[in-house]
Amino acid sequence: MSTVSPEAAAASPERLRLTEIFLSLQGESRSIGWPTVFVRLTGCPLRCQYCDTAYAFHGGQWWDFDTILAEVAQHGARHVCVTGGEPLAQKRCVELLRRLCDEGYDVSLETSGAIDIGPVDPRVSRVLDIKTPGSGEVARNLWSNLPLLTAHDQVKFVICSRGDYDWAKAIVAEHKLTQTCDVLFSPSFSQVDPSALADWIVADRLPVRFQLQLHKILWNDEPGR
Ligand code: SF4
Repeated sequence: MSTVSPEAAAASPERLRLTEIFLSLQGESRSIGWPTVFVRLTGCPLRCQYCDTAYAFHGGQWWDFDTILAEVAQHGARHVCVTGGEPLAQKRCVELLRRLCDEGYDVSLETSGAIDIGPVDPRVSRVLDIKTPGSGEVARNLWSNLPLLTAHDQVKFVICSRGDYDWAKAIVAEHKLTQTCDVLFSPSFSQVDPSALADWIVADRLPVRFQLQLHKILWNDEPGR
């Protein structure tokens, strides 16, 4: 991983703390399967019980924007996913997203749903989590984000139990989410049998997209894959 010197990055107002930048396949969401450069920002104010990126909670290095953009470019992919942690916990993330859009990338943002998405460039496809009771972080949902969603965005529920499924189904109906954007239901790895979740969705004829995380199937969720 190449960075400018810590002193130079620290002096720049255009900098972010990053855990990693890497090329892989997009493992979830509408862009599943596309070669994608992942820009993983460090830090998250939440602690979901199923979190698979706890290694991004702390540490990382300061990168200035020009170095981030150069590193993204050298991977040669059209899709870029800004993720975390919770990338919006660093306010300058919004400016990086704008710069990536200006460069012509197809940009997505994975966000916890706990921070205002209003300032995010509308060219970005926002993949917004709604935290279920089983996540342990349901109280962090920022419901004022939902009216800001457009057809370009996606909402994701990670389902930890049948109770979570029923809760998520009620939230989808209450907020008419499927009339706004794609709604994704994923089983929490090792907590819900994927085939059970698939059966529930089919039985209810729920207009949501079932998904399994491709990177877990292919690479058992190794960091950097
Ligand atoms: S919001 Fe995402 S990164 Fe943060 S604890 Fe939850 S799953 Fe992990």
